[in-house]
Amino acid sequence: MGYRPADAIQDLQYFGEYGGVNPSISDSSTYTFLSAKTMFDTFEGNTEGCYLYSRHSSPSNLYLGEALAALEGTETANVTASGMGAITAVILQLCSTGDHLISSRTIYGGTYAFLKNFLCRFGIEVSFVDITNPKAVQEAVQSNTRMIYCESVSNPLLEVADLPTLSKIADEAGVPLVVDNTFSPLSISPAKLGARIVIHSLTKFINGSSDAVAGVVCADKEFCLALKDVNDGAGMLLGSTLDSIRAASILKNMRTLHLRMAKHSYNAHYLAERFEADGLRVVYPGLSSHPGHEAFTKQMRAEYGYGGMLTLDAGSLDKANALMEMMQGENLGYLAVSLGFYKTLFSAPGTSTSSEIPEDEQREMGLSDGLIRFSIGLDQNIERTYHKMKECMEKLGILTPVNAMR
Ligand SMILES: *Cc1c(COP(=O)(O)O)cnc(C)c1O
Repeated sequence: MGYRPADAIQDLQYFGEYGGVNPSISDSSTYTFLSAKTMFDTFEGNTEGCYLYSRHSSPSNLYLGEALAALEGTETANVTASGMGAITAVILQLCSTGDHLISSRTIYGGTYAFLKNFLCRFGIEVSFVDITNPKAVQEAVQSNTRMIYCESVSNPLLEVADLPTLSKIADEAGVPLVVDNTFSPLSISPAKLGARIVIHSLTKFINGSSDAVAGVVCADKEFCLALKDVNDGAGMLLGSTLDSIRAASILKNMRTLHLRMAKHSYNAHYLAERFEADGLRVVYPGLSSHPGHEAFTKQMRAEYGYGGMLTLDAGSLDKANALMEMMQGENLGYLAVSLGFYKTLFSAPGTSTSSEIPEDEQREMGLSDGLIRFSIGLDQNIERTYHKMKECMEKLGILTPVNAMR
């Protein structure tokens, strides 16, 4: 893959007032105009470099948007107040009453709930498909289909979408492929593989410090402007605007994303290999046992690895809960939802982030009761972490101690 996103981010240069090395933070909700005529033109959305009102755009939000467009290799990007703010705006921009969309059935619980329980209010129909089966996706296309939606690496089952194949199906249907790339920033560049719109929850790896909630839509100028249209733009009218001060702090954190992703991936890969060798049921796209391993390898930028997420089956919900509590007690990580933090975070997705999905559907998609989702942290000494985690598992009978087996 020729595109070098970390270089593109590194090459951005925005100075602050007085030559500050960081851009100044725009601390205003509204902007003055020298003439009434320019104000009118800005309202119409045709004056570059002029700001009207910060729900529309602000300098700080534009700086962050440009860094995210550089990350994904798209023309531009709109930042939003959350990942869900980005997802809902895109869907409602593309779909109206009587329309239909195709979505992967294994997606973030909030997105699933929105598609399943909310869109019906507007008469928008959704087909949930197995995204790893291109034939099923193709067969779900209808004359009123408006978009195909998936996550490049899905939450929480880590299914890998074959983006070139899906974008071909979307192209043939004349609809955009919309990809949530929250789990694999830098590793996978969906826009370079044919996706027309790329979404992130910045709350996760991109910000990486678990202190902010934010999102982004990366796309071409036409779509991003349409989202901001004062008359009918879903971004503008639904109002999920990111605060400028947060945009500035996220931009600063983003500059170390390449270092963090490589380390998250290294650590997750290390643990996945060891635990698999110990006989545990581990799901990690970097393992050749993973059904999406080849698809990931084909699409990835190798230096950032297979990502920081893995799942492990503790056998039962009780064992999973006991293990998480014990690991937290040993300070190996926190029992918490979300991902991309410097500490390892773990949760049982069936009872937390995917609880929106009914139990029988969870079973059908392979979400077992004992499943623990890990977002592996930036531990400097991952070997030490491995041994400590293993001790916890042995104490709880999830792993049989080697000595006892002899
Ligand atoms: C967290 C998450 C979201 C939602 O993002 P928020 O910032 O919490 O609104 C969407 N997609 C994925 C894959 C996520 O992990």
